[in-house]
Formats: sequence, structure tokens, C-alpha cells
Amino acid sequence: MTSPLTTALAQLASAVEILGYSPGLHEMLATPRREMHVAVPLRRDSGEIVLHRGYRVQHNISRGPGKGGLRYAASVDIDEVRALAMWMTWKCAVVDVPYGGAKGGVTIDPRQYSQAELERVTRRYTSEIMPIIGPERDIMAPDIGTDEQTMAWVMDTYSVNLGYTIPGVTTGKPLPVGGSLGRATATGRGVVHAAAAALADDGVDLAEVRAAVQGFGKVGSHAAHWLHEAGTRVVAVTDVDGGTRNDDGLDVPALLAHVATGASVSSFEGGTPVSNDEIFALDVDLLIPAAVEGVIDADTATGIKARWVVEGANGPTTPEGDRVLADRGIVVVPDILANAGGVVVSYFEWVQANQAYWWTSEEIAERLAQRMHAAYGAVAETARDQSLSLRDAALAIGVRRVAEAHQIRGLYP
Ligand code: NAD
Repeated sequence: MTSPLTTALAQLASAVEILGYSPGLHEMLATPRREMHVAVPLRRDSGEIVLHRGYRVQHNISRGPGKGGLRYAASVDIDEVRALAMWMTWKCAVVDVPYGGAKGGVTIDPRQYSQAELERVTRRYTSEIMPIIGPERDIMAPDIGTDEQTMAWVMDTYSVNLGYTIPGVTTGKPLPVGGSLGRATATGRGVVHAAAAALADDGVDLAEVRAAVQGFGKVGSHAAHWLHEAGTRVVAVTDVDGGTRNDDGLDVPALLAHVATGASVSSFEGGTPVSNDEIFALDVDLLIPAAVEGVIDADTATGIKARWVVEGANGPTTPEGDRVLADRGIVVVPDILANAGGVVVSYFEWVQANQAYWWTSEEIAERLAQRMHAAYGAVAETARDQSLSLRDAALAIGVRRVAEAHQIRGLYP
């Protein structure tokens, strides 16, 4: 399998070629600015001590503080975190929020641990990386395996250690401790804005299409919700345990209620089983990968029937998969554009937290829609003008903005 870092570096190389940058600049853009590796010992509820590995990578901070999620998964390793941090750098630049890119991870399967154990892991990890995070240095958010409770623990640990409350160190927090209205649903909502914009380019409306969504967590479930609201027939969804399909359209509100009880989508009674392999070959118009990296390789891409792939997940398509999709004329709205709604509303949350002044949900929804459509418009225009794929166009815009900031600041000393 192509690793996420191999994919991220191949994408950067493609952008560097389009932009005509020198080998030295290319190397600088390919290399993380700063990395921290930490040991995270945990006393389990049983009294046993186990050790987890933790990482925080700041890929680039030329345009502002590092920004990026914290992932808890058994498969987390330093190269995955490096790839995710690099994608954050380009993403923040594409939607023009004043951040660099960062990412964190702990090698732990959260499903095997109690809430009390996860709290201890989170607090220990946070205190280990304290020297490099903060509202002006590096701001965390939820990712796979973490949630708003995790962000509250990070914020509390950081604040307690410094002696006062600092909500701006994380985004995606619960509302009572400085979270923003609309943040929890923002990534999924942004994915649907991106899908709507891509379909509109071909004169198609969301209400006319059938969609499948892989992954039913923070991104996939809200994407399904907003698709359903827009009149799209959502015919299949999966999570790590399997999936459910109904060719007449799944009852998305009932499915959300089912999942809210802690159940997997695979045990939903309003559909028949579908696997994570099968979902990619279904007869749908719109496919939304919203789980993990590397799921659309050359093989999977060959079987895809959808006309549009809108990437909710980070790095779901390998470079080989991308080539097959391009050859087959399938439109890919790339992750650094399609799933940027999360970081856009994280930016709104950070602005609100720093000013201690809160916006209404209508203001947030409107500003999110405006940012997503503006970013899509700029990427699509570049793609048309320079005959590029949407991915290459988005990367070219993101990488150019980062390189420009770097060049204007100059090289110290
Ligand atoms: P999550 O933990 O809330 O949900 C992940 C979902 O994917 C779950 O339904 C899980 O069961 C499923 N899953 C996990 N491994 C899988 C596998 N091997 N095959 C199929 N399904 C699998 O995580 P999330 O926050 O929804 O993140 C999903 C993706 O979106 C990740 O790539 C993440 O980096 C990206 N993303 C998240 C955000 C955000 O705001 N949360 C923003 C941008 C991008």
C-alpha cells in the first residue's frame, strides 16, 4: 500500500513542477519545520502501566501558528503524522486562513480504553508537548479517535499549567468552554458545499444524485446529514465494522439516531449489509470517502462508477488511484479543499475565543459557505486556466501561498 507520506510527497512534487520551484525550495517545503516525539505512559484502571508513543509535527509555520488535529489510532506513526501535517499546511493556505500546518497523534486504539484512561493519556500527552503548543504557536482540533471532550482536556491541562484559562489552544471544544456554534458539523457541511459547487459546474444539483459515504464519524455522518438535507439520496454508508445500503435511499435521520446509541451503521435495520470494499463500486453519482488514507488505489479506482469523488478524509486517494480516476474522467474534489470546512470554522472559533465575543450560528453558516464557495471557485478557475486537475490546482495555490510567505519573510539569518 502507498503510504500517506509517499502520497503527500508525490503531490508536493507535482505542485513544485507546475510552479517551477528550485530543488532547495522544494526540499524546504517537503521537510517538517519542527517535530516532537514523546513517550506517553499510562496507568490503566487495573493499575498496570502501558506506554504509548505520541507525536506533534509542525510542518510549516510561515503563514501563522501551526494548526491541525490530534489523532488516536493504533496505526498512527510519525510518517502518517508528517503527511497529515503537510496537508494541513496546504489546506490552510487554500482557504486562506492565517495558519501553518501541524498534526498530532498517539499510537492508541481508543476503543480499548475507558474514558478515565483516555483522559489520563490526553493530559500526559498535552503536558509533554506543552512547550510547542499554544494559541499563537500551534492549535489542536479533533481528528480520528478524538472528540470535543478530548479538546476540553487538552485546553484544561494547558490552562491549569499556565495558571489561567486559554481557550484558543484548541478548537472543536464543547460550547460551554469556548467552542463555536457550527464547529461539530463544519467539516461535513463544507464537504457538501464543495460537492454542490463541483456538481453545479456540470449543471447538476445535489437533489438529483445518489451518494455513498465511507466513514460515519465526525465528517461522514454530518456529510450524510447535509446531503440528506439537500435532497440527495444517500444509498450506502460504512464505518470500520461494515456498512448498510438501501437503493431507495437510507433514512438518514433514523441512521443518525441509531449511531447516537453507540451502534455501528452495519447493524442498522433500514438497509442490507455492504462492505468497505463494495461501497466503492456501487452505482452512485457521488462518492465521499470520509474515513482513512489510501483507500482509493488503482484497483479501487478502476471499479468506481461515480462521476464525482469528494474527499472528506485526508489522503484517501493514492497517486496511482488519482491517475486512474483522471483517465476515466472522474472529477476528484481534493481533500485540502473539500474537507477544509473544519479548519475554516476552527479559525472562526479561535477568533471568537481570542476576542471573547461569539457569533450566531447563522453568521457561522453563512461565512463557512462563502469561504468554501470562494475557495472552490479559485481552484476551479486555476484548473480551467492551466488545464490542471482540481487537486493540482488546489496544491499549486496552497503551495504558492506558503512559498510566497516564506520568501517575503526571508531566510534567517
Ligand atoms: P472519526 O473518528 O470521527 O470517524 C472515523 C470514521 O471512519 C468512523 O466511522 C470509523 O468507524 C471509520 N473508519 C475508521 N477506520 C476505517 C477503515 N479502515 N475503514 C472504514 N472505515 C473506517 O474521524 P473523523 O474526524 O470523522 O475523520 C475522518 C477523516 O476525515 C480523517 O481522514 C480525518 O483526518 C479527516 N478530517 C477530519 C476533520 C474533522 O474536523 N474531524 C477535518 C478534516 C479532515
